[in-house]
Formats: sequence, structure tokens, C-alpha cells
Amino acid sequence: MNEQLTGETVELLQALIRNQCVNDGSIDSGDEFRNAELLRDFLEGNGLEFETFEPTPGRTSLVARYPGTDPDAPSLCLMGHTDVVPVSPDGWSNDPFGGELIGDEVWGRGAVDMLNLTSSMAVAFRHLVRTGQRSKGDLIYFAVADEEAGGIHGAEVLLDRHWDVLGADYVLTEFGGIPVNGPEGAALMLTTGEKGVAWRRLKVRGTPGHGSRPYGTDNALVTASEVVRRLADYKPAAQIGHLWRQMVSVMDLDEEVRDALTDTEKLDWAIGQLTPMVAAHAHACTHTTFSPNVIHGGVKTNVIPDEVEIDLDVRTLPGETHDDVQAHLRAALGDLADRVEVDVIAETAATESTTESPLWQTLAKAVSAAPGGSRIIPSLVTGGTDSRFYRNKGAVAYGAGLLSPSVPIEEFNRRFHGHDERIDIESLALTTQLWLDVVADLWN
Ligand SMILES: [Zn+2]
Repeated sequence: MNEQLTGETVELLQALIRNQCVNDGSIDSGDEFRNAELLRDFLEGNGLEFETFEPTPGRTSLVARYPGTDPDAPSLCLMGHTDVVPVSPDGWSNDPFGGELIGDEVWGRGAVDMLNLTSSMAVAFRHLVRTGQRSKGDLIYFAVADEEAGGIHGAEVLLDRHWDVLGADYVLTEFGGIPVNGPEGAALMLTTGEKGVAWRRLKVRGTPGHGSRPYGTDNALVTASEVVRRLADYKPAAQIGHLWRQMVSVMDLDEEVRDALTDTEKLDWAIGQLTPMVAAHAHACTHTTFSPNVIHGGVKTNVIPDEVEIDLDVRTLPGETHDDVQAHLRAALGDLADRVEVDVIAETAATESTTESPLWQTLAKAVSAAPGGSRIIPSLVTGGTDSRFYRNKGAVAYGAGLLSPSVPIEEFNRRFHGHDERIDIESLALTTQLWLDVVADLWN
């Protein structure tokens, strides 16, 4: 691996972290213009043409295209988001925005989600341009804002408006590259699919009255609390998809538990045998999930509330439709279904890219040739990434990366949006090299 490039990835990551592009979901947070400017300065001066987009003030995204030699060859986009989620500083052992290099780890918010990838992609991209390594197809570097709040100031609108500039046949982005040690040896999980989003706002109505006389009243908050309880208790049927089977095949588990994880009859028992974080993941990969996460209601302590709103985070499995979600809600609410008005907050079906692609073969080759070489396994991500916007336009998109064995999957998950987020230099080196290896092989 190239030490010079690793050093560049470390430094760029530190600078991206220090820019604190914290996206709390509000329109004036994020300030991704800072990271867009930083990346532009980093890439500038190599004969590249840039375009920046600012669909919302301050929410800047940047794209650079390195033209290939054959206009008919498929293009590859390296897409990294530049925003990060907020921190609770009290839980951190070091400054979350210091970007400090402590031992062999870079610390700070974004170190694994996903400024590590965004920086390594920029370094690999600049190296290819500087050294004049033109591929057959176009190579695109896309530093995108607002991934952490759903892409409404980023990928979602930009791909709709500027497909002529941002369009690509293949896309690599977060997240993937976590090494696992399965029964048949080392494997690396890359993501090829993600669950759908079906967020709902549930409105429960009642009759207002004086809080001093609650007997026999129709209190919307009391009804809403029963709605919440039923949603929390709802147990939709399990579904064992092909991605889940692949993921289970490489889990380092007792054989009986592993077998049970793909058997709908024994799944509940098997999930009960797992550590809490793995259990939650296993449950989410095999079920449509319902999480009531926000409630608003009531106006005054002495007034019986006549309206309560509940925001419900529903995540759907591949193949599930709007009607399936409505049917789940009716089943969950039972005789209260008629008391609840349901509005859609956001809805995108689950997406998946085929592994029958030259890009998948290239990744398989690159990963098996990398230090500690392993095979790659497709997997499902339960949250949302910007991949879905590319997949919905027909591109093949994977979540990739190449982490060192010092970041086992549980540790990776703990750091993801968690305290003490950090990444080791070896992972940065491996990932930077991965992009170079992919570009070197994809069009051959
Ligand atoms: Zn991310």
C-alpha cells in the first residue's frame, strides 16, 4: 500500500471532521459548503472540471468528472456524504470534532460514517487524475450533502435535477467492508440492498373537557398510549430473504443458532440467543419494523386532550408495498384502527442491486487479493443511504469499503452514530487502495 496516499487520507479525514458539518435534520444545519470547499481545494489544479450544487443555501454538494476514453463504456461514481450526525459530547473520551490522531486511530464524528470513505475516495480519485490513469469509462467523484437527513437537500433532489451531470452506471458508497469470521473463513460484508422507509403520522382524536373530571371521557392521549402499546407489541410474520441467508452463513455462531436464524419457526428463539445489538439487527433484517418515536399532544394540564399525533418509523422488507404497510397497521391496531388517521410522512420502497455485475466481480477480485484476502458477501442495510436514489434510477450501487480486522462488526456498529467514533489508519489505507484496485480492474 502507498504510504503517501494513506497519509493524505488521514489528513483529509481530519480536516473533514474538524469542519463539523453536523446535520441535525433542520434546514439550516449541516453547512456542508465547508466540506465541499475543502474537497474542491483538495482536488483542484489537476485539469478537472467541477460543478457545485446548492439546492438549499449552505447545503453544497460537489461533483468532479474524470472522462474516460470510451464514451460508451459504463461510468463509475464514488459517492461520499459530507455531513455527520450530532454528538453528545459528554459521552466522548476525546474531542468529537478534534480530528485527532491518537495512536493509530483518527478520532471524531464521521470517522466511520462516512468521512473515512469520502476522504479515501477523494485521495484515490486525485491520485488517478494526477498520474494520468484514464479508464475506459468516466470516473465521477460526488461529495454529497444531507445524507443523514434523507437527502432532500442532497442526493434525492440532485439526481432528479442533474442526472446529466451526476448519472452513473455503477456507484460505490457507504457502507460495507466489515470483516467477519464465518464458519468457512474470512468474509467481507458489502451492502447490496436496503430496507424501505414508510414513515407515518398517526392522528388520534378525542373529545376535549375539563381535566378535573376525567371519568368516562374520551381522552386522545389515553387512546394514543394504547395505540403506541399495540404498535410496540405487534409481531408481523418473519420473512427470510436471500440476503439474510447470506449474512447468516458468515456469522460466527453456534451451529444450532445459525440454522435457526433462517427457520421462521425457530427464529424468535435464535434471536433470543444473540447479543442485544446483533439481535436487533437480526430482527430488523427479517421483519417489517414499527417504532413509534415521536408523540405530540395535549395543550394544558387541566384540559383533556382532543388530538394527539404519533410519528411512526416503519421499515419495510424488499417487495413490500404501500398497501402491505396499511394492512400491517390495521392488523396492529385492531379495533382501534378506525380511531386513527394515517398520513404518509415519507415512503420509499426497499432497493436492491444485483450481484450479477462486472462491478461485483471486480470487488470480489480486489478484496480477495487484499491483505488478509477474503470473499465478499452481499448484505442488507436496515437504515437508509443515498444508494437508493441511484438504484431507483437504474444504477447498480453497493456499499463498500475495506476495514481492518481491528474493527469487528459489533465495534463498528457501536461507533456508528455512537460515542468515541474513530478509525484505524490500516482501514483507511486498505480502503484507499480498494478504490484504486477497483478502478484498475473494472473496465478490463
Ligand atoms: Zn452515512
